[in-house]
Amino acid sequence: MGRLLTANLGVVRARMAAAAEAAGRDPAAVTLIAVTKTHPVETIQMAYQAGMRHFGENRVEEAIPKIAAMHRWLAAQPGAEPIVWHMVGHLQSRKAESATGLFQLIHSVDRPRIVARLGRVCAAQGQIQPILLEVNLSGEENKQGPDLSADSPEEAAQRLSPLVEAIAAEPALRLQGLMTMAPIVERPAEARPVFRQLRALRDELARRFPGLDWSQLSMGMSDDFEAAIAEGATLVRIGRALFGERTA
Ligand SMILES: *Cc1c(COP(=O)(O)O)cnc(C)c1O
Repeated sequence: MGRLLTANLGVVRARMAAAAEAAGRDPAAVTLIAVTKTHPVETIQMAYQAGMRHFGENRVEEAIPKIAAMHRWLAAQPGAEPIVWHMVGHLQSRKAESATGLFQLIHSVDRPRIVARLGRVCAAQGQIQPILLEVNLSGEENKQGPDLSADSPEEAAQRLSPLVEAIAAEPALRLQGLMTMAPIVERPAEARPVFRQLRALRDELARRFPGLDWSQLSMGMSDDFEAAIAEGATLVRIGRALFGERTA
């Protein structure tokens, strides 16, 4: 598994770099997040040893013991580079309290209730929580976030404005950009319009809210990360291309 993982990582990094260069972008501007949901701590340790530093989980209950185990493992290696943890899955309000402080970036903030909850919890804990705003641009019902699939960038930005203002009003939350989940399609190129839409929405929001940080675009997974990079992804979330099919 260690050798396969190292080989997979090499392939994914090469494909990421090629996609960035083809788009005239600096490959260093795209961060690989290894999505380790369903995989054991041993796999995360192997991935760390292979050079990965950003990890994503999609359920708080699953992430808590895995992150704790990785903290202990890293603490036993003086001078080891820290891990950056990403929460990429749907966040339930009652899990807000355990998610803050656990993840350096929460990608899935998508509704007023979770903004209020996170804002309150982080303020009480005295910490600043970086977040992304998740939107649904595919129109699929199983996707999280406000459904903006039928809107122009201007309409989408207009519809999102109250949520953006609510986030900006929470001193403990630091917005850093947008996240979306592309539709499952036959050919990755078919997902590309959704990535283009996310970037256009970001550009429109940056015009309306120039004081906020819109630098991050979290988009692209195992099957479509090259299309996402072509459209400006700064964070790609990759599971299967690194670790193989999930069985759990
Ligand atoms: C599982 C997951 C990924 C990774 O998906 P793969 O197809 O395994 O690359 C990315 N983002 C989110 C939100 C996920 O839940």
